[in-house]
Amino acid sequence: MALAIHGGAGTILRSQMTPDLEREYRGGLETALKAGWAILESGGSSLDAVERAVISLEDFPLFNAGRGSVFTHAGEQEMDAAIMDGNNLRAGAVAFVKNIKNPVGLARLVMERTEHVLLAGEGANQFAEQIGVKAEPDEYFFTEHRWLQLQEAIAEGRVQLDHANSPPYEGGVAAASADGVVLSDAPPRKPIGTVGAVACDKNGHLAAATSTGGMTNKKFGRIGDTAIIGSGTYADQTCAVSCTGHGEYFMLAATAFDVAARMKYKSLSLEAAAQEAVDYLTTINGEGGLIAVDTSGKVTLPFNSDGMYRGSIAPGGAIEIEIYKTQ
Ligand code: ASP
Repeated sequence: MALAIHGGAGTILRSQMTPDLEREYRGGLETALKAGWAILESGGSSLDAVERAVISLEDFPLFNAGRGSVFTHAGEQEMDAAIMDGNNLRAGAVAFVKNIKNPVGLARLVMERTEHVLLAGEGANQFAEQIGVKAEPDEYFFTEHRWLQLQEAIAEGRVQLDHANSPPYEGGVAAASADGVVLSDAPPRKPIGTVGAVACDKNGHLAAATSTGGMTNKKFGRIGDTAIIGSGTYADQTCAVSCTGHGEYFMLAATAFDVAARMKYKSLSLEAAAQEAVDYLTTINGEGGLIAVDTSGKVTLPFNSDGMYRGSIAPGGAIEIEIYKTQ
């Protein structure tokens, strides 16, 4: 059995952290690990464990998912989430949904109650309403530091990754527009992020889940890698992967699936495959990281950014939480 979680990757420096804030982050990660682990320990499935851990992180306002999500240019909070059951190769995802307390739970309902994998925008909200998922008012999601982040991003004319310093993605529409759509490489503020979990249960079944508010000041219904199966989230009978970072690059590299593909087609170990996938991301200027687990319960958490909020729990209950680079 194994469980690993992340709370986002990016420019996370010890010099920018206060002891109190660090304690809060660690507390949020620990609570999520314990919540997911309790399910695995009592014989529950990896699917239930990753959903439970991600719900805990969505409810924690310092991370960019659920409550505390970042704001779009229009001052909205639009969230993306996905969940995947590796044993049955089933997945569900939602993109730019609003007012949903736990987008990962809605993603699971897409998987279980529809014949689709990904529902977006108003349609996804209508689905939620139809099946009785309670909507929360805007105030529930609001946090002042996210609002201030948006004002700064608008003033500086940039679409801000939550905590990344990678060069702007200059593809397609973004490069062509002159009205502030171009992603700027100006240094970001407040590093806090997207959340995810991967787990292996007592039967060796794997699952992954990821949830995010995306990028501050995003426009035009932008969807990131989180909701895209194979990019930010993936699980099969080889491994389960949840990613965080500059989503455009994770989509270009199909990073989450890339880990599974390298294991399957190159017979690499989990650790080697995940490291190669992150190395490839680095070659295309993508910043971020991932967490992954295989059927033997091995966990790996590579990243190419300054830091990544991350943690894992081993049989026996020993919890490991790290934020910065350890070497
Ligand atoms: N990958 C997320 C996105 O691009 C952001 C993050 O991981 O912080 O929407």
